[in-house]
Amino acid sequence: MAEPDIHSELGLRRIVNVSGTMTDLGASIVVPQARQAIGRSLGEFFEMSDLFRHASGTIARLTGAEAGFVTSSSASGITLSVAAAMTGSDLAAIERLPDTSGLKDEVVILAGHMINFGAPVEQMIRLAGAKVVPVGHATSSYAYQLQGAIGERTAAAVYVVSHHAARTEQVSLETFSAVCRAHGVPIIVDAASEYDLRGFLAAGADVAIYSGHKFLSGPTSGIVAGRRELIKAAYLQNRGIGRAMKIGKEGIIGVMAALEAWEKRDHAAIRQRERSALDLWLEALSGKVGISARLIPDPTGNPLDRLEIHVDPELANITAWDLAARLASGDRPVMVRDMELEHGIIELDPCNLHEGDELIVAERIVEELMRAASESDPVHTPIAAFRQAQEKSIADCL
Ligand SMILES: *Cc1c(COP(=O)(O)O)cnc(C)c1O
Repeated sequence: MAEPDIHSELGLRRIVNVSGTMTDLGASIVVPQARQAIGRSLGEFFEMSDLFRHASGTIARLTGAEAGFVTSSSASGITLSVAAAMTGSDLAAIERLPDTSGLKDEVVILAGHMINFGAPVEQMIRLAGAKVVPVGHATSSYAYQLQGAIGERTAAAVYVVSHHAARTEQVSLETFSAVCRAHGVPIIVDAASEYDLRGFLAAGADVAIYSGHKFLSGPTSGIVAGRRELIKAAYLQNRGIGRAMKIGKEGIIGVMAALEAWEKRDHAAIRQRERSALDLWLEALSGKVGISARLIPDPTGNPLDRLEIHVDPELANITAWDLAARLASGDRPVMVRDMELEHGIIELDPCNLHEGDELIVAERIVEELMRAASESDPVHTPIAAFRQAQEKSIADCL
């Protein structure tokens, strides 16, 4: 029996998501195993410390870490890991945060890693009461700069793995870990959007943080895996600032089910399905005037390809950003990946498709290209005006 459509019930638009696992769009399609587990958990009581202990075992098995804990998001995982590095298991210090009097409270981070994932990563560090010490520059960083930034007050080092991070001349995780380890500084890796659950810990991280709601397709949650002592101290923050970032029973049980499903997932079959969507789009776009498309690998090495569509505004009579805006409008909205719009590029991400969505994407793009081609005036919003309108719309909420 088909479920009644929740969008029409709430008066909301049903979108097609080809932008990726975006918080702004509800992250990912939660796997059935997690949905069932969440449903089964909601009517029950649990001794939460036992539930956390169980989760720690599952996380340890999947990541190779000594221990793990679940929090409400990767963002809070960063805050709580930083807090853990400052307070250890000192309960009085935990209750005093974000007042860090008497504690080591500086956190080093490469300047090129100070990204915004929807909020600034450095703010998640400051939220614990820590002070951010940027290393190097947006365009380059060196081991000697990291060495020079570490001092008496250094509590931790944060390393960000992300397509948003600067990609030129940056200190590698191996070098970063070696320098930090030589000074006894714990290394926290933000791997929120990465598939590799073992590699960062293996490369020297003391803590690795993953989002439960991105590739893992679980409920909104953060997984923090690492050295037992630090994980324990991060968990104890639930008696302090962690309380404001609480995850409930359903979140813990849901993300455990998603992790177990991930272990058994037929990754090859999923890639195959993604590939057939990409092929369909390539075929739909072939020969379209002003359009060239090619497959591109994920920039941080996740096993995922996307379609990069280059729009020539003169030949297509529309700019990439106007095309993206038109695709997102109307009653069959298609949300494309829009990080390279200014370079005339739209990307399509195939990892969050419902059955049949790939056809809607192909139809809508062809439809909008034909519409633009038939208009006598060029659809060329100046990029500065487009960006200003985008900025203005940030405040148009509630
Ligand atoms: C998505 C993301 C985050 C935030 O993850 P949440 O679990 O949504 O808080 C942090 N860092 C990076 C690199 C991300 O991609």
